[in-house]
Amino acid sequence: MTNPNPYPDLPQNHLLKQAFEGSARAHALIEALQDFLHGELAELAQMHGIDHEHSPDKSLLRKVWQRSHALGFYGMTLPQSMGGEALSVLDQVLIKEAIYASGSPFAPHVLGELSGPPRIGALVRKATPLQMEQFILPVARAEKSICFALTETEAGSDAGALQTQARLEGDSYVLSGAKRFISGSPFADFAVLMASTAPADSGQREISAFFVDLHAPGVEIRCGYKTMAGQSHTGDILLDQVRVPAAQRIGEPGRGLALALGRITVNRLLHCPAMLGLAQVALCDARDYALQRRQFGRSIADFQALQHMLADMATQWMAARALMLQTARALDAGIDARAQASMSKLFCSEAAFGIADKAVQIHGGEGIVQGRRVEFLFRMLRMYRVLTGTSEIQRNTIAKELLSVPGAQHA
Ligand SMILES: Cc1cc2nc3c(=O)[nH]c(=O)nc-3n(C[C@H](O)[C@H](O)[C@H](O)COP(=O)(O)OP(=O)(O)OC[C@H]3O[C@@H](n4cnc5c(N)ncnc54)[C@H](O)[C@@H]3O)c2cc1C
Repeated sequence: MTNPNPYPDLPQNHLLKQAFEGSARAHALIEALQDFLHGELAELAQMHGIDHEHSPDKSLLRKVWQRSHALGFYGMTLPQSMGGEALSVLDQVLIKEAIYASGSPFAPHVLGELSGPPRIGALVRKATPLQMEQFILPVARAEKSICFALTETEAGSDAGALQTQARLEGDSYVLSGAKRFISGSPFADFAVLMASTAPADSGQREISAFFVDLHAPGVEIRCGYKTMAGQSHTGDILLDQVRVPAAQRIGEPGRGLALALGRITVNRLLHCPAMLGLAQVALCDARDYALQRRQFGRSIADFQALQHMLADMATQWMAARALMLQTARALDAGIDARAQASMSKLFCSEAAFGIADKAVQIHGGEGIVQGRRVEFLFRMLRMYRVLTGTSEIQRNTIAKELLSVPGAQHA
């Protein structure tokens, strides 16, 4: 029989008892992942001095990807034909939440979120046999890594304004331009990269997608800058007359943005379990600190002001989680849940940051000293209000869906 609580250290264990809603397979995967995260990976982190702000180098990352692959976790999000698990969106959300709630610094790497199978899942349908052989299968086998490059300095929220040019010359495209803020690029071998195939200065928008070998002549990865979370997982990709065989174009010319945004609804939702997993860690840390810290001769957890903070944190977390799970169910039911996914991304990111903020407050001075986990979580969770579509862009999407009443026109 399925154990109703596969999350031994999490708040619902003590505060918020809930039934496990995923499949028996997701439950088994979560249990096996907990062993991997708390066993082998915890030892590896200790041995190499890895924590949230001291990232593994590429050779250590490769080791983690390959172990995860050998244990059957790495490619679980891929189609079944490629060894994936055919998991529902709800299962994927629950699995990711458990990974992040483990508090492991390897959490983003176990499934290869920055540079592994989740970056290629949607492309499998469009890839040619050659592209499968050269790019997709090596990534699925954890031999190579891949990033996703859309953003540019002048094309952030307005991604369609990108200026990187791909000019057809014989049987190759010649790519020139610069990509900004590309997750995983410091350790990736390939990129799925968006460039304009419209004639230069034509004023037309025609965005196409390419597999680009990041070791090819003319490619430079500029990295080393850190985000406010103290990590250097992000870099810029500079392209100077890079020759890319036409056979590496993905799908039809001009279909790149549609390809990139094709899974945006599911992808937006799939950021929520990471935020809520980390917010659980902040909530647990705050609760534990409140119980052990004494002031005025008593536990600070006795003060109603702190009890109310904890109550608000748990309520926000619970509401955000309910919205996330409801959206996952809608997607599994085949509903076009674009607005719900934006609501989830908006609400979960704002709620998770609010939880981290209160967790810092409950820790007092200890909460603002570097090295405390809540101090890191505060900085980390601040970032999600910007990443993969800012809160403002989510509101735009929600409003657009609400206002698109058939037959109605704005005055
Ligand atoms: C750590 C990190 C990792 C990233 N990883 C990747 C990656 O792997 N691949 C990739 O392609 N990109 C990546 N990005 C880019 C990310 O998606 C963009 O930073 C994000 O979409 C916002 O774009 P911008 O930074 O240019 O902000 P801008 O678009 O310049 O926005 C600035 C402000 O204006 C607001 N704004 C803009 N337009 C509107 C509007 N129409 N209505 C209301 N408000 C508006 C925004 O909400 C924001 O408050 C990453 C960024 C970071 C920081």
